[in-house]
Amino acid sequence: MRAALLREFKKPLAIEEIDEPAPGPDDVLIRVEACGVCHSDLHIAEGDWPQLIKIITLPLTLGHEAVGRVVAKGENVTNPAIGDRVGVAWIHYSCGDCEMCREGRENLCSSQKITGCTEQGGFAQYIKARASHALKVPDSIPSAEAAPLFCAGVTVYRAIKNASVQPGQRLAVFGIGGLGHLAVQIAASLGAEVIAVDIADDKLELAKTLGAGRTINASSRNAVKELRSLGGVHIAVVTSGSKIAYDQAFSSLRPAGALVVVGLPAEPLTFPAISMVAGEFKVIASAVGTRQDLKEVLELAASGRLKCLVESRPLESVNEVLDEMRAGRLTGRVVLTL
Ligand code: NAD
Ligand code: ZN
Ligand code: ZN
Repeated sequence: MRAALLREFKKPLAIEEIDEPAPGPDDVLIRVEACGVCHSDLHIAEGDWPQLIKIITLPLTLGHEAVGRVVAKGENVTNPAIGDRVGVAWIHYSCGDCEMCREGRENLCSSQKITGCTEQGGFAQYIKARASHALKVPDSIPSAEAAPLFCAGVTVYRAIKNASVQPGQRLAVFGIGGLGHLAVQIAASLGAEVIAVDIADDKLELAKTLGAGRTINASSRNAVKELRSLGGVHIAVVTSGSKIAYDQAFSSLRPAGALVVVGLPAEPLTFPAISMVAGEFKVIASAVGTRQDLKEVLELAASGRLKCLVESRPLESVNEVLDEMRAGRLTGRVVLTL
């Protein structure tokens, strides 16, 4: 099968013919129809996160937003069935037995396996997944639109849920990319007054069509000053991997506001304790989502209340896609089709 392999950090992916994965007793083999390209794939390829580099073995097939049909299954698998259309998320496996799993926080499982990181991912014609973690995709959502829900969608859904948004609250989304354009829709559907912040006008134009009442281009305007002039924001969701976005988001909070940490810059975030205390700010970090979160976000999309703007490109163009993502030139989500 064809796959896009990371052979060396900071180098383009190699498109190669490799063996199809063989499903184990609890696995399904999926013929991939679409796999979203997440900025986390780019962070991994760049070797941005030392914490992950040490658990990665190269060569590695990236991609953790895969949707396709089950074509084979292991002897223990009863569900899903062959022919079912399923999706594979970042959380490839969680044990169900550790303290976090028992508390319903399987996204924090101490024995978790990660798609496109510790396990081979979906930038390939076939992917192997645990049957227990391959979730069925509602018929009404095309594969290309469903794939990004398995990371981008579920991540912002959980993050906004964790922030307990109330109708009428001012909520700023910093970074209107693959995750951010979905965050705008989810926050708007909860009745928040959404302010979109990015450094590219086309993304801000998109945000307006998705429910943002205001937009701020932080490269030409003073986002902090403008947000403070509104009284500050109750919630700032950062879906950009830029540290500058975090600094601005933090400074834009109203007292008792919450900073929602989603984007993953390589460098540490630093906030003055005196300011945090003076504002009684909350910091809420959120890691992808559980299967329950995924089911909820799939339902939201099936009901037409959430729609991922996607552009399909062939697997062979993955390096161009990563280059455009690095340059901030992608709008919505690019999915590789196979
Ligand atoms: P993306 O490249 O599609 O979008 C990033 C957006 O940020 C772009 O629109 C870009 O223009 C914008 N941006 C860049 N600099 C900015 C700035 N200074 N201020 C405001 N906006 C700015 O990326 P994505 O796939 O949406 O991923 C976003 C981040 O979320 C990445 O760091 C990714 O690794 C992370 N992520 C985290 C989780 C999690 O579980 N917490 C899950 C998935 C992705
Ligand atoms: Zn992702
Ligand atoms: Zn566990």
